[in-house]
Formats: sequence, structure tokens, C-alpha cells
Amino acid sequence: MKKLLSVVVSCYNEEEAIPYFYDEIIKTADDMKDVNFEFIFVNDGSKDKTLDILKDLAKKDKRVKFVSFSRNFGKEAAMMAGLEYANGDYVTLMDADLQDPPKLLPEMYNYIVKDGYDCVGTRRVTRKGEPPIRSFFARMFYKIINRISKVEMVDGARDYRLMTRQMVDAILSLKEYNRYSKGLFSFVGFNTKWIEYENVERVAGETKWSFWKLLVYAIEGITAFSTVPLVISAIVGLLFCLISFIMIIFIVFKTLIFGDPTSGWPSLACIIFLVSGVQLFSIGVLGQYLAKTYLETKRRPVYIIKETDKDLKKD
Ligand code: UDP
Ligand code: MG
Repeated sequence: MKKLLSVVVSCYNEEEAIPYFYDEIIKTADDMKDVNFEFIFVNDGSKDKTLDILKDLAKKDKRVKFVSFSRNFGKEAAMMAGLEYANGDYVTLMDADLQDPPKLLPEMYNYIVKDGYDCVGTRRVTRKGEPPIRSFFARMFYKIINRISKVEMVDGARDYRLMTRQMVDAILSLKEYNRYSKGLFSFVGFNTKWIEYENVERVAGETKWSFWKLLVYAIEGITAFSTVPLVISAIVGLLFCLISFIMIIFIVFKTLIFGDPTSGWPSLACIIFLVSGVQLFSIGVLGQYLAKTYLETKRRPVYIIKETDKDLKKD
């Protein structure tokens, strides 16, 4: 019996890129003769013709299946839906814009089948074609998160990866609402082989990530995989108590020895500003975690489906 490989593709406004993507992935699929393919396209509430294109493809090619959301739920949700609907013994996650080259797939497949890895991930070694300031912040983010989180996040790692069924099931067993998959992948463990490649620019359309969105995503990653910011705000609070204690003693003695000429209000104003700044910051940090907890307790679904292929069932 031939094994089945599911290719999960999340698509948001990708009408221009999907035809190119389909041509490429078909070529790769035809080259890999020892495994059957299914293509699961998740339409993440696109506002363009993406869904029509997917429906056409599904009519033309039996291996193409689609899942369509009721609105845009974000790439994390799209990837989760794809994993849930995939039936393959192996599952790969890919972008629709060909930034995840399908031609790497045979090599990735060999690492799993021949060398016994559970997962093959890909990482970009260059960030060519990206604004320098974005690369700088990305590097900073990885430095910080790896220092404060027990789960290792690999710099430049893409979501493009091939996994065994066992690993996919492990990921799906994590039921959290705030899904930060870079962390989830490394949280579940298993043997991962990393292959490196040069950054490729997207074939058509444009990136959906603004700088602001990336920043929010980074904060999400930190709150999802580390509680160190809470510890830091506690330590800073303690430090400030200590400093103020020393200041009190100093001022008491100064007043006793030199009397009390009324002066020093500018320094007082500065201290009030600083301390209330630190307080607000700490409350903000605390609030982040509380907000996440709040969202988790609501147990809202990660995505809502409007339509799917009739023969596509969640197992
Ligand atoms: N994507 C998605 N939902 C979103 C945003 C993006 O499914 O809300 C998909 C998008 O269609 C693409 C992939 O996620 O296939 C990566 O998006 P993009 O190329 O914009 O990100 P970048 O490669 O620039 O990081
Ligand atoms: Mg892209």
C-alpha cells in the first residue's frame, strides 16, 4: 500500500499565486512516485476569487480538497484546520505564495522515510528581500524568546515542514485557543531535521504581514511560551521597594542633620513619573497574561467553517 502525503496550504487572498503554486506542487507530486498525494487548501476568508479558484481545482483534480472559513481567522487557525482535515500518513504545511519551495519535498520525505526523523523543518538562512529593520527586530525577538522560554524557537524557521502522523496528532492534542505554532511544534518534541535554504520572494500578490501585526504576533509568542515577564515585573517591583527604603533612611538622616529647607520638588516629580511608569508597565504585563487566560476560558472555536468539499471529513 502506498502511503498518503497531505499538503496543507493556507490561503488568504491568493488568487494570483494559487495557479503558480498548483503547477509547481503537481510537478513535485508527479516526481514522487512512491507516495500518493492529497492537497488540502484552507481558504481563510479571502475577499478575492481564491475560493472560486479552489473549487475549480477541486473539480478538475480529485486530489484537491478545500475547506473554507466563514471569515478571516488568521494563518494559525488555517493551519490547524488543515491539520485536522488531513488524512495523510505524512503532512506538510506550505504557503500558497511559493516561498516554501515544493521542490524541497522529496528531500524532506527521504529524511523521514529513510533516516527515521519524525519531522523535517525548513529555515531560511538569509532574509534577502526583507526590510533591514524587520530583520533586526526578528533577530531580537528570537534572542529574547529563546532566553526566556524553555521551548526552543529556531531563528528563520518557517512553518513549512513535513511531519509524521504521530507528530500531527500530538500537535492536535494541544487544545489551546492562542495557537503559536512555532512554539507548539517544538513543544511536542520529536526528532526534527532542519534543512536550510535561501529566502525566496513570493511569486505574486503581497505579504499579509505588516510591521504592527508582526509585533503583536511576537508579543503573543512571548506570553504563550514564557511567564518570565511576570517574574521580571515582580523583581523590578522589589528593587524599587529596596531603593525607596534606602532613600527614606537617607532623607530622615539628612533632615535630622541639616534641617528641612523646602526644595527638591523636581526630583520628586521625576520619581513619581518613574514609579508610576513602572507600575503601569507591570499592570500591562499582568494584563497580557490575564487577557490570554480570559480568552482561553471562553473556549471559543479557533475557526468556523462555512463550506468544505462534500467528501472531506474531519477524522
Ligand atoms: N495567510 C492566511 N491567513 C492570514 C494571513 C496569511 O492563511 O490571515 C496565508 C497566506 O495566504 C500565505 C501564508 O499564510 O499562504 C503566508 O502569508 P504571507 O506570505 O503573507 O506571509 P510571509 O510569507 O510574508 O511571512
Ligand atoms: Mg509569504
